[in-house]
Amino acid sequence: MDLKRGILFVVSGPSGAGKSTLIERFLKQDKQSTFSVSYTTREKRENETEGKDYYFVDRDTFLEMIKNDEFLEWETVHENLYGTPKKEVLNALKKGKDIFLDIDVNGALKIKKTYPEACLIFIEPPSREELKKRLTLRGEKKIELRLKRFDKEIEKKHAFDYNIVNDNLEKAYNDFIKIVENVRGLKNGKDNR
Ligand code: ADP
Ligand code: 5GP
Repeated sequence: MDLKRGILFVVSGPSGAGKSTLIERFLKQDKQSTFSVSYTTREKRENETEGKDYYFVDRDTFLEMIKNDEFLEWETVHENLYGTPKKEVLNALKKGKDIFLDIDVNGALKIKKTYPEACLIFIEPPSREELKKRLTLRGEKKIELRLKRFDKEIEKKHAFDYNIVNDNLEKAYNDFIKIVENVRGLKNGKDNR
């Protein structure tokens, strides 16, 4: 492993499991990391910011980007297209920055194939009922569409390097920090487990 290169952390799991909550909190206090902003054809939510949460593009622009090989991976999720920009991710890693991806389960497994050094973290909600509650509280409109993917996503959790059950947020966040520190330690030749 190239010690100068950053670490690629791929955080995945069902929509509403708490991925962005954990990543955002972590990145606020960790200056050696950055976040990979994905491209999507989904409509922007009221509380979202262009260039911070996503780059919102139309379908033709997205298809053109696929043609130009601009994505590390891309997927159709809940009837919209989502993709991880290749250039931004590789540039961050080259500069020695750790980078966090918040992407769906299929996208995460694709990344592991092309980039086996990536650390895959699966965030799991305590139950389907709790997930439904959280999606409702978030004001999500297409809840059934999101729940439909749930079983298939959970089936794939064993392919991930680490699993976190996000029941109590404080505990989940502590688990998250420990995993990141452990992976950083392994890279530097220390095993912190
Ligand atoms: P994701 O990014 O995986 O789609 P979010 O981080 O947006 O999920 O979380 C979905 C909703 O659940 C948000 O409203 C968030 O504030 C809430 N949430 C996250 N973790 C917990 C938790 N441990 N307990 C209760 N609510 C939570
Ligand atoms: P949301 O519409 O709730 O923001 O995201 C829906 C799902 O798409 C989430 O599981 C999220 O992780 C995933 N997603 C976001 N960006 C990407 C991406 O670039 N690639 C893939 N494969 N999934 C993504």
